[in-house]
Amino acid sequence: MAGEEWHALTGDEALARVESRASGLETSEASRRLGEVGPNALPAAAPVHPVLRFLAQFNNTLIYVLLAGALAAGLLGHVIDAGVIVVVVIINAIVGFAQEGRAEQSLRAIGSLISPRATVLRGGERLIVGVEELVPGDVVLLEAGERVPADLRLIRARGLSVDEAPLTGESVTAAKAEAPVAPDAPLGDRAGMAFSGTLVATGQGMGVVVATGPRTEIGRISRLIQDVERMVTPLLRQIDRFAILFTRVVLVAGLALFLFAVFARGFDWTEALIAVVALTVGVVPEGLPAVMTITMAIGVRRMAARRAVVRKLPAVETLGAVSVICTDKTGTLTLNEMTVRHVLVPGHDVRVGGVGYAPTGALNAENHGDDARAIAALSPILSCGMMCNDATLREEAGEWTTRGDPMEGALVALAMKAGLDPAHARGQWPRRDEIPFDAAHRYMATLHEGPDGAGMIYVKGAPEALLAMAGARGGDWEARIADLARQGERVLGFAAKRLEALPGQLTPADLAEGVEFLGLMGFLDPPRPEAVAAIARCRSAGVAVKMITGDHADTALAIGRQLGLADRIEAMTGAEVDALDDAGLARAVPGVAVFARTSPEHKLRIVRALQADGAIVAMTGDGVNDAPALKQADVGTAMGRQGTEAAREAAEMVLLDDNFASIVAAVSEGRTVYDNIRKVISWTLPTNGGEALAVIAAIFVGFALPMSPTQILWVNLVTSVGLGLVLAFEPPEPGVMTRPPRGAGAPLLSGFLIWRVVLVSALIAAATLFVFLQALGRGEATEYARTMAVNMTVVAEIFYLFNVRYLTMRSLTWRGALGTPAVLGAIAALVLAQFAFTYAPFMAAIFDTRPLRLADGAMILALGVGLMLLLEAEKLLMRRLGLFADLRS
Ligand code: ADP
Ligand code: MG
Repeated sequence: MAGEEWHALTGDEALARVESRASGLETSEASRRLGEVGPNALPAAAPVHPVLRFLAQFNNTLIYVLLAGALAAGLLGHVIDAGVIVVVVIINAIVGFAQEGRAEQSLRAIGSLISPRATVLRGGERLIVGVEELVPGDVVLLEAGERVPADLRLIRARGLSVDEAPLTGESVTAAKAEAPVAPDAPLGDRAGMAFSGTLVATGQGMGVVVATGPRTEIGRISRLIQDVERMVTPLLRQIDRFAILFTRVVLVAGLALFLFAVFARGFDWTEALIAVVALTVGVVPEGLPAVMTITMAIGVRRMAARRAVVRKLPAVETLGAVSVICTDKTGTLTLNEMTVRHVLVPGHDVRVGGVGYAPTGALNAENHGDDARAIAALSPILSCGMMCNDATLREEAGEWTTRGDPMEGALVALAMKAGLDPAHARGQWPRRDEIPFDAAHRYMATLHEGPDGAGMIYVKGAPEALLAMAGARGGDWEARIADLARQGERVLGFAAKRLEALPGQLTPADLAEGVEFLGLMGFLDPPRPEAVAAIARCRSAGVAVKMITGDHADTALAIGRQLGLADRIEAMTGAEVDALDDAGLARAVPGVAVFARTSPEHKLRIVRALQADGAIVAMTGDGVNDAPALKQADVGTAMGRQGTEAAREAAEMVLLDDNFASIVAAVSEGRTVYDNIRKVISWTLPTNGGEALAVIAAIFVGFALPMSPTQILWVNLVTSVGLGLVLAFEPPEPGVMTRPPRGAGAPLLSGFLIWRVVLVSALIAAATLFVFLQALGRGEATEYARTMAVNMTVVAEIFYLFNVRYLTMRSLTWRGALGTPAVLGAIAALVLAQFAFTYAPFMAAIFDTRPLRLADGAMILALGVGLMLLLEAEKLLMRRLGLFADLRS
């Protein structure tokens, strides 16, 4: 079909071919077509088959060692041991399989929260729709920073250039135009087309969808989209490496221990072999990487529930270490719900009443009494605000909302308050061209054709830029600007130029002379109520907050004070940043809380300067030009609502509600994830270690093993599978946001953690050996003493869980005692299993256990409680002594 030659048609021909119009399809027609052609999406890669995923669980050195052990045990006639090892392997695989599946599933669900959207015209109205809802014939609007959502034939291109690297591999952006090109032009030369998956670098455009989903050019190349990325972060890689190293060390040590037991201590070699194999299994924390993965996946899910979606998994860990948050002002710290409060024109100051976007509210002259005369004098500035404007207002059940830029919505509301009719005026003076707003030049201009063929240029933007344009510097404007800004109002300037004849295009050169400055408006943009509390939390958590805004310094300072950004707020402007070299900037940034009148390049320098000062930086951004700064930042944070696709793709995290408080929530969750990982480690290592130490000590001293090999495997199975995981669900400790961030290079295994591992291993081993020897001393059978030893180890592990739930704080509180449902459930299950182990006849047959007498059970419980109290006391003592940095807060 001619589908491949859309570039050779004109825009109008293409529209006709897909049976559409410049005002777009009707909504009903669009949904009809959607049913016909299917969603605009590439088919997803088929997930790995569950059986293969399950088998992959066995592909692990440790499992090989275990299976070899099972084989050896079987050949040597120890069928029960062999059976138990096989059961351990299978249960481990099932648990690993389930955990991995859950982690990936939750990541996939979270990924769909930030599915891309597109702006389309349907029935003449601008709508935002999901990209997958686009159909051939839809008219799509493009802006810098967006990904082209489908293959488009351009109807309009204004300074439009597109990065087509995903399609052509070409690194230079391709300039786009409306004219058709030769039918045989190669893909890279089809200037009239914008292809799905490419990125708009500059300008604006409009095009009609000619192909969707697998029928697009990118769809032809790659018919599959990438599957969810695997959960890999620096910390997980570190732990994986640690686990491999540890396994090797343990294998070598196991071999040495085996030789020692047989030759130096005269143990029966088959018994020694199986004991050593069991011990190896017991001591290697094979579940640790899986539990850490699930801990992070839970963190990602909790962050998503608090409106912060992690796009790149390493951010889960980095978030907990963030020490500076650099944030936009408008929309992030403020509501971005604008209302015009003041209008200032030569000779008149007018105050505007009303709230929100409802077009009701009085206009009152503030300096002269005569409202009517003042309002008449506003006519040019009101027209300018209404015409140099892409927004429309909507009323639904008495609620007024804006479609488009909030500031522009406020200008429409203002015009309506003054009795003007924006729709009518825009029809009378149709727009012929425009220079879109850009954060670098800070103004927007439009060219209009009047009823008599004359032309008019309207400009709005940062007042300094407009005053310079109009040659109207000085006068009392500057004082009036400062006056509004100091009240926290966002100040916008307005200007106009009358033309005798209508030029074909609007360029910045048209603004070089003859521009008349019309006046100023002050907009109210209230701070987000929750931002005040969020900033206070940051300050108590040792996280500095820097506001980086394109707005006026006085406005930013006023908002900064309302938010309580710092005790003494210093402001620096973009021009002042430019005047410093990198070293000077690095010295200055820590003391500055507000950066005003900045452009996106300043953000990059500010992040680098903060990082040079040792900070871990989270930085927000929304525009296409913010992408470099977002990439440079440790946690680049993009806006889910206002931001561009380019910013989202450069970012580690996306805020679904564009709200500063969500960043702080994510930092708090990030700290919790890190804490929980430390808890998992500080629980897992000593419980494995304690059991191993008891057996090793027995071999060295040369008395009977305190546990049989199958019993060692039992302890390993019930505790490491069940208990370690519950720590992944721990809620944040009460103090997470009142302590300073962890240092950038702080090791996971801190001094305190290592001390803990060693101490607790020794204590658990001591308790286990104590009950074992005590029972033997009373003349009990070895089987009875071993049953006591196993119960002692498990009970000690359970009680130690309570110590670990608060790493550094007192655990003996109500909250500590109550525990999470996960903790209580796991403990209940474990207690049941342990009762069965001790008293059920079939367990006795497998594990060679003996029912314990009540008094012995009570002694074991008492020792467990004693251990917990001892470790609590140790925590307090260590805190007093202040030996470990973790305990100082
Ligand atoms: P912020 O950091 O507060 O988001 P921006 O970079 O968006 O600031 O805007 C900086 C300045 O550019 C504003 O203070 C305003 O003067 C001007 N400006 C913002 N949006 C527009 C617009 N749509 N049209 C004209 N000027 C604008
Ligand atoms: Mg902005």
